[in-house]
Amino acid sequence: MNEHATMVPNNLEAFWMPFTANRQFKQTPRMFVAAKDMHYTTSDGRQVLDGTAGLWCVNAGHCRPKITEAIQRQAAELDYAPAFQMGHPKAFELASRLAAIAPTGLDHVFFTNSGSESVETALKIALAYHRAKGEGARFRLIGRERGYHGVNFGGISVGGIVGNRKMFGTLLTGVDHMRHTHDPERNGYSRGETEHGAELAEDLVRIATLHDPSTIAAVIVEPVAGSTGVLPPPKGYLKRLREICDQHGILLIFDEVITGYGRMGAAFAADYFGVTPDIMVTAKGLTNGVIPMGAVYVKDAIHDAFMSGAEHLIEFAHGYTYSGNPIAAAAGLATIETYKEDGLFERAKALEPVWADAIHSLKGERHVIDIRTIGLIAAIELDPIAGEPTKRAFSAFLKAYEAGLLIRTTGDIIALSPPLMISEDQVGEIVETLRTILTCLD
Ligand code: PMP
Repeated sequence: MNEHATMVPNNLEAFWMPFTANRQFKQTPRMFVAAKDMHYTTSDGRQVLDGTAGLWCVNAGHCRPKITEAIQRQAAELDYAPAFQMGHPKAFELASRLAAIAPTGLDHVFFTNSGSESVETALKIALAYHRAKGEGARFRLIGRERGYHGVNFGGISVGGIVGNRKMFGTLLTGVDHMRHTHDPERNGYSRGETEHGAELAEDLVRIATLHDPSTIAAVIVEPVAGSTGVLPPPKGYLKRLREICDQHGILLIFDEVITGYGRMGAAFAADYFGVTPDIMVTAKGLTNGVIPMGAVYVKDAIHDAFMSGAEHLIEFAHGYTYSGNPIAAAAGLATIETYKEDGLFERAKALEPVWADAIHSLKGERHVIDIRTIGLIAAIELDPIAGEPTKRAFSAFLKAYEAGLLIRTTGDIIALSPPLMISEDQVGEIVETLRTILTCLD
């Protein structure tokens, strides 16, 4: 018996797992018990190459000593401080550090504990900002089909995934959606931004005109839609959204929960695409996924609109018990330091063409109907088994896990997003493992 085998609990019933086929999982559980750099160790003692950075979050690789030590030190020194009406130095230090790497003008940071909370926070800031400016008639929020903005009520309302909405009845009112930009007919096998589809940004004009632009508070998009299958934006699309927002006084929110902190070979997708939003939603890579934390960046003018109110009042009636938590802040500082010391954002940039070439070499393999790459992200889309959507890709996931590779699947799409420390040999290993699996998939 290996040293980890005893770590699998006898009773798996009590834990109701999120976004998981619980009954299926508990019959054949898959467990990780340790991790280091690019690999997980399974409970049966195997090494699994992490092709997904956990859930798109472990950008610096696993169990990095600087981050581990910072957490240990902070836990021993100051474990918790009240988040309201009290401060501690690390949260302020981290906010300054983040503002320094953010796109110009996004100089103020509100801390949350997750991507979903960051989304809710951003939507609430947008609504309250317009009220603070005397434009309370701006109450509408615009999202996009195939957008994923977490699982809370605001996020599933502006999000565009019917499966995440249909169990929950009435959502936010005053929400509308632009069309998604996925067009495999015109943009098949794309690298980077896609060639066609910038005109879809005009959906925002259509929706604004339909409702009256002066009723619209904000539009929220992922610069690259991640969880719904890696959908890069068409060339010029995000710039055009920016123009339309400026023209009508609408706030532009980028959800950079996946694209933030180096995933695109730049600090943020806003830098990669050269388009700066008014509000930027982040989480995941902020702490390397190690401790839950999110950060919402806002432009100075938005922050200042809150701060110019009566001085003795709380400027924004919103926040969490763990906003800016000391241990999370210490993890964030150590994470940003690790990215810098290891040059990981630059490394991801240099690796992007190697990554794209390697992944696109899977074109023509059995079942592959499209491939998309951008930054250190990739999607390999498989033709679905008739009448059994998601089955083929999930079977690829299980086979990959057996073969020592962690991938993620969404629908019939394999999504990849390795830690940015990945070597070229490991990129090759991912691709060759997938090639073998594809040839023996039903
Ligand atoms: N927004 C985006 C774009 C995401 O990808 C995710 C998570 N995958 C979220 C929000 C929600 O983040 P969390 O799971 O931390 O709540």
